[in-house]
Amino acid sequence: MSYKILVVEDDEYNMKILKKILKDENYKVYTQSDGKDAVEKAKWARVDAVLLDIMMPEIDGFSVCQLLKEDPETRDIPIIMVTAITEGETLKRAFELGAFDYIKKPIDRIEVLARLSAALEYSEQQKKLQDMAMRDGLTGLYTHTLLLELLEKECSKARRYKTSLAFLMIDIDHFKKVNDTYGHRAGDMILSLVADTLEINSRRSDVVGRYGGEEFGIVLQDISYDNAWIVCERIRSSVENFEYRIGDKTVKITISIGMAYKESEAEADFEKMITTADKALYQAKKNGRNRTESIVLSRLT
Ligand code: GH3
Ligand code: MG
Ligand code: MG
Ligand code: MG
Repeated sequence: MSYKILVVEDDEYNMKILKKILKDENYKVYTQSDGKDAVEKAKWARVDAVLLDIMMPEIDGFSVCQLLKEDPETRDIPIIMVTAITEGETLKRAFELGAFDYIKKPIDRIEVLARLSAALEYSEQQKKLQDMAMRDGLTGLYTHTLLLELLEKECSKARRYKTSLAFLMIDIDHFKKVNDTYGHRAGDMILSLVADTLEINSRRSDVVGRYGGEEFGIVLQDISYDNAWIVCERIRSSVENFEYRIGDKTVKITISIGMAYKESEAEADFEKMITTADKALYQAKKNGRNRTESIVLSRLT
């Protein structure tokens, strides 16, 4: 996949040069000849970097830079200023506003490509770090904090659009015994395999997180009760049927699932979803483990 670059430049000649340099290197180029709609275009095209002229009529490059940095959707896009003015004050201002780098006019092909690729590389690195902070180290699933945040977001969305929502609380059965028998490291390995099974059996759009030690949470958006139940049972039986190997031994692992199901017309905030799923999970444990129990929140409850 090629990177998408937005070039904001009012001068036709410079625009033509930049476009040619970038296209020759297989970048996908978007252009904007004024500062006015630059932010909109950056958002709409989901660009990976912006080359931004400073001197433009109406809205200059500084203002565009500021607008891009103020908007959460565009603030992480690296901006490279393109400028004929390279005196200290101008550059200082650009960096203060959050520009990543600058390119001097007249435009030099090698310089453009070198600075752009450095900016793109840096931004990839930042994205990876951000992603790591959101992911649990052992399982690669969303962290507890992010899981709750996303559940909260889905709850507001479900309220606004009157859609259904399911929250699954999942707990590994007798996991203490697994640790006691095979050791904590083996336990960790199994935890991460169970996490994989959860992910494999959910849709890409579902939120799968590590709720706590050996507990997981899954948010299923806009799904019928029957389908949510099918997801639960598919996950449960996949875990049950997987052969967890430790050395030359095979260990059987089962999970219990508590599902809170909010019907489309029902009101429920994320705390209600959690306590309800927790209650259902408790029932699943009480009723023998390796099973799903659900509690439906309907309009009247
Ligand atoms: P049940 O849920 O079926 O009632 O029994 P359990 O033994 O799984 O229940 P409990 O919640 O009391 O124990 C959970 C155990 O999970 C305790 C702890 O040692 C283990 N555990 C929690 N987090 C981790 C982890 O990150 N790695 C490993 N190896 N074990 C963990
Ligand atoms: Mg200009
Ligand atoms: Mg537990
Ligand atoms: Mg347990």
